[in-house]
Amino acid sequence: MSARAALCPSSRCKPGALLLGIVLPNGRIGYSRKRLVVNGEFVQIATQGRAPEKRFRFSSPCVQSACKQWSAGRCGVIDEVLAELEPTQDAQRLPQCAIRSACRWFLQHGAAACRVCPLVITDCTVPRTDREAGSAASISVAADGQTPLHDTQ
Ligand code: SF4
Repeated sequence: MSARAALCPSSRCKPGALLLGIVLPNGRIGYSRKRLVVNGEFVQIATQGRAPEKRFRFSSPCVQSACKQWSAGRCGVIDEVLAELEPTQDAQRLPQCAIRSACRWFLQHGAAACRVCPLVITDCTVPRTDREAGSAASISVAADGQTPLHDTQ
């Protein structure tokens, strides 16, 4: 990947993706401080149980207009999340993730994105209407929308 490419912080589990973090028992994300690249073996094992995107967060290069979440020159996911969620209580201390310098959400919203990011669980299947009925303590958002599985309309 290009060193200057913006990174989507809510992408699919696929070879070459970065393992951004794991979903902790309290439903929040625990971030890796290192850029861990997912390989084919990881994907094969991770996809045998529940959807890996519900247990981990992954990051891949932002594909902009090739993604269904892209609208008016920006990522619509973080705009939606910020409109629906309150920042985490520990808002003064940003998560120590490994992608901040290139993160699409951070590029759009700065620290405000990082304050809600730990509450986001990627979901490749949940339609928008179901998400609106979900808990206010966390949110499931669609991953990058490159395939019909990501259609949230
Ligand atoms: S929004 Fe902030 S915490 Fe989340 S992945 Fe991007 S830079 Fe890291």
